[in-house]
Amino acid sequence: MEYQGTSHKSAARMPAAFISHGAPTAVLEDDDYARALGRFGRSMARPEAVVIVSAHWQSAGPIRVNAAAHPGLIYDFYGFPPELYNLAYPAPGAPALAKRIAAMLGAEGVAAAVETGRGWDHGVWIPLRLLFPEADVPVVQLSLGTADAAGEQLRLGQLLAPLRDEGVMLVGSGGLVHNLGLLRPDPLGPPESWAVAFEQWVSAQIKERNWAALASNWTRAPHARLAAPTSEHFDPLFFPLGSAADEEAAHDLYVGYRFRTLSMRCLVVRGGNGTQS
Ligand code: ZN
Repeated sequence: MEYQGTSHKSAARMPAAFISHGAPTAVLEDDDYARALGRFGRSMARPEAVVIVSAHWQSAGPIRVNAAAHPGLIYDFYGFPPELYNLAYPAPGAPALAKRIAAMLGAEGVAAAVETGRGWDHGVWIPLRLLFPEADVPVVQLSLGTADAAGEQLRLGQLLAPLRDEGVMLVGSGGLVHNLGLLRPDPLGPPESWAVAFEQWVSAQIKERNWAALASNWTRAPHARLAAPTSEHFDPLFFPLGSAADEEAAHDLYVGYRFRTLSMRCLVVRGGNGTQS
């Protein structure tokens, strides 16, 4: 399907996706990862909005829902090339949708609170800049809980799945293998065997649709402590998975590594063979 520009007529069921956002410099590259995300963005009808959970907004207590109309960017990374700190991504917020989401969650017993004082962290604007470079798709970000976040994300995906039938895309932004202390100085070198072993185990569980078991058991996967010493980059995986209908599956959108241990694997949840919405 061709890119739909600013048309609002399509309300086809939107895919959901897990995007590994990698290092912030990913947004400056024109590599196979950036091109894969660009192709994916152009392959679908323009979403009415994106609802996204990023590894970089964790909060205890109620789920926070960003209802700002025009959030700025948060440059929440240090020691990178200066041009990264000058990039813009002026995608608007979607305050009405944000308030509706908070109400939808509240009606199902999930405490949620609207807030308007926050911008987009790099887990939001870097992947969205690659997916939708025109910055014309409104965005609502949800915070990531700090207790049983994987299970919580599965539930949030289930509860918000109906939005996909209104043309809203759900996105989890994190990374399947993410240990900054074990990055190697060789950006395109072969991945370490422990990273591959962990990711293959996880990928098999995803393909088998063992999502609930994965959410509760993934820390027992081979090399889990190396692959995800903290869980915040892994947990957003379960937001798109939780939104899957029975006939849908999770398909690889991109598979690869940077710095030999940083997984860039991206997945799309949709029906059919996964190649077309
Ligand atoms: Zn990150």
